[in-house]
Amino acid sequence: MQRRLHPLLSNTPGTRREIESLSFGRCQTGRKAYLHAGLHADEPPGLLVLFHLVDLLLAAEGHGSIAGEIVVVPLANPIGMSQGLLHHQMGRFELHSSENFNRNYPDLTAFISDEIIDGLGPDATANAQQLRNTVARALADAKATTELDALRITLVSLAHDADIVLDIHCDDEAVMHLYTETPYWQHAEPLARYLGAKVTLLAEGSGSAAGGAFDEALSGLWWRIARTRAAQSKTVPVLPLACFAATVELRGAADVSHALARHDAQMLYAYLCSAGVIDEAAPPLPPLLGEPTPLSGSMPCLAPHGGVVAFHVDVGSHVDAGDAIADVIDPVSRQVSTVTAPVAGCFYARTAVRTARANQSLGRIAGGQALRAGPLLGA
Ligand SMILES: [Zn+2]
Repeated sequence: MQRRLHPLLSNTPGTRREIESLSFGRCQTGRKAYLHAGLHADEPPGLLVLFHLVDLLLAAEGHGSIAGEIVVVPLANPIGMSQGLLHHQMGRFELHSSENFNRNYPDLTAFISDEIIDGLGPDATANAQQLRNTVARALADAKATTELDALRITLVSLAHDADIVLDIHCDDEAVMHLYTETPYWQHAEPLARYLGAKVTLLAEGSGSAAGGAFDEALSGLWWRIARTRAAQSKTVPVLPLACFAATVELRGAADVSHALARHDAQMLYAYLCSAGVIDEAAPPLPPLLGEPTPLSGSMPCLAPHGGVVAFHVDVGSHVDAGDAIADVIDPVSRQVSTVTAPVAGCFYARTAVRTARANQSLGRIAGGQALRAGPLLGA
């Protein structure tokens, strides 16, 4: 294992932060996988899962069975990890700028000029390497002006040439679920099976007004170029879907235990075996627990007014449209309103707070119909 430190630009005198990456296996040969946790620094399950995965990877490296390279960043966001307000950790948004740590990632297609695309040949693998080299040069030249910029550029630089990128998060209260881009569903299915994901949400870009999430910035390069060129009636280059990137939502923020984390680490390890990054036989694929659904079909259950929230259903339940999800009780007016499911599907995530304000989302249902347009991710 090689340990590398990546210093971040410091914005204020007397402060200095760095990102640590751990590299296993043989660089420059075979497939590369990249995993990090804690980009939203108040989401601890992934930190413990990678802690246990590192033990498995150290053993695998000792046996010489890592076929390619695996890069693990055990804590992706030291800025968010250090933030707190009123006795609560604040790890989702940078307090200085109010920016979500998982938005505003660079559009890597902007680094690829028409001249470079026109110069590509018939070999998809060689073309992918040429684009990766171009992106690497552009990232090396990128000048961060803030510590947050430096964090984003560092993480993308570590991950951009990986075949597999897993950005490990969690929700408030939730069952295991994944986000990835629609063209990559076949890549995602084994991961969904090993992790036991009940929901996989698919989109071609999230349409986020604040800029793309980490995973879509990396996976989007490989289908967006072909899409753009076809729309411009230009020659479409021969390119593979070279970077499968997914956001893994490890249940809820309080679902932290050695038992769960060891299990999840073993399942990530199994997936890396199945993907050929670790040269060991992968265990049999478990059944798929839920067919993928469109991210644009993920529908919020909205509180009609403020009050105390009492749920009728647990996360992971299948609900039909019109089923009671929760009561919202205004203790002053004594109004009780029952929030019902807007669509049928898996009620996969809900708020961990049992008070609500008017129009707040209390939870989400993975519906099968694409009903939403515009930005598909929340703040
Ligand atoms: Zn998150």
